[in-house]
Amino acid sequence: PYASIGLEINVDYLTAVAVDLSGERLLSWRRSFPGATATPAQAVSAIAALTRRVISRMTRDRRQALGVAVAVPGLIDTGGTVVVAPNLGWRGVDLAGDLAKALHDPGLPIQVENDANLAVLAEHRFGPLGGTPNLVYLTGEVGVGAGVILDGRLRRGGQGFGGEIGHIEIDPEGPACRCGRTGCLEAVAGIGVLVSSTDPAKVEPEIEEVVRRAKAGDRPTLDRLARVGRDLGKGIAIATNLLNPEAVILGGYYVPLAPWLLPAAAAEAGDRTIAADLGGCRIVASTLGYGAAALGGAARVLDSVDSGRLPSR
Ligand code: BGC
Ligand code: ZN
Repeated sequence: PYASIGLEINVDYLTAVAVDLSGERLLSWRRSFPGATATPAQAVSAIAALTRRVISRMTRDRRQALGVAVAVPGLIDTGGTVVVAPNLGWRGVDLAGDLAKALHDPGLPIQVENDANLAVLAEHRFGPLGGTPNLVYLTGEVGVGAGVILDGRLRRGGQGFGGEIGHIEIDPEGPACRCGRTGCLEAVAGIGVLVSSTDPAKVEPEIEEVVRRAKAGDRPTLDRLARVGRDLGKGIAIATNLLNPEAVILGGYYVPLAPWLLPAAAAEAGDRTIAADLGGCRIVASTLGYGAAALGGAARVLDSVDSGRLPSR
C-alpha cells in the first residue's frame, strides 16, 4: 500500500499528515517550531527530519511514500521556490531543491505550495463543504492568505501568486505589516494582533487564554475580538464582492475563536457585500483542524497521481 505525505511549515509550528489512497488519515503530527526566527537552512533540516520520521513510520507499516507536498506561508513559483514568505522572513528560498538535497531520495517527488491553496484543496476534497464549486479558505495564522476554488478548480493566477488577500490594505492608519506596507488585512486581523509574540511557546497558549477570557465574558477581550472580527469581515467582503463563493471557510486559529469572530465578521461582510444577503455566501469555521494545509498537501500528491503527473512508484 501507499502513503501520500503533506507537511506544513508556519510561523510557530510544523505539521505532518499522511493519508492512504482513499484519503484516510494514517497519521497527523504537529510540533512547535520557531518559523519566524529560524533560518531557511534550519527550517529545511527540520522539515527533512520530520519527513524522514513520517517515511520511516510508513515503511514500518509497509507503506511506500508516493510523494511529499509542503505548505508554506508565502508566494511560491512553479519551480517550488519560495519567492517571498513575509512572516518567515524568506526571500528566494529554493525549498523544493533544498529539501530534495537534504532527503537524498531522488525517487521521491517533492512539491511546494502556498498554505492557503493547499488548505482549500483539503476542504474541497475532505471537508463538509467538499465538492462545493466556489470556495474561499482564509488562513487564521499570523499571516492571512486566501485559497480560492472557482468552478471546482484551484485558481492560482498567472504565476501562482493569487489569493494574497492578507496584503490588501484595510486600514490606511493601521499597523505595519511584515510585507513592508501598513494596514494590511493580516496586520489588523491576523492572529498576531491577539498574541504578544510569534514565539511558538506562546502562540497556542495565548490563543487558548483569549478563548478562556472570552468565555468568562472579559470585556476588553470581547471588544478586541469584535474589532478583529469586523476587520476580518472587511477582508471577507473583498472576497465575496470579487468572487461570489458559496462559502468562505475560516481556518487555523480562527477556528477556536470563531464563536466570537464569526458574528462580527459576518455582520461586517454582510454590510459590505453589494449583492444582498452576501450573494448566498455562508461563512463557516473549518472542521479540519490545524492540519488543513498539510492535509491539502497530501491531497495534492494524490491529485498528481490521479492525473498521471506522478508515477505510482
Ligand atoms: C502570505 C501568504 C500566506 C498567508 C498565510 C501571508 O503573509 O503572504 O502567502 O498564505 O500569510 O500564511
Ligand atoms: Zn502586508
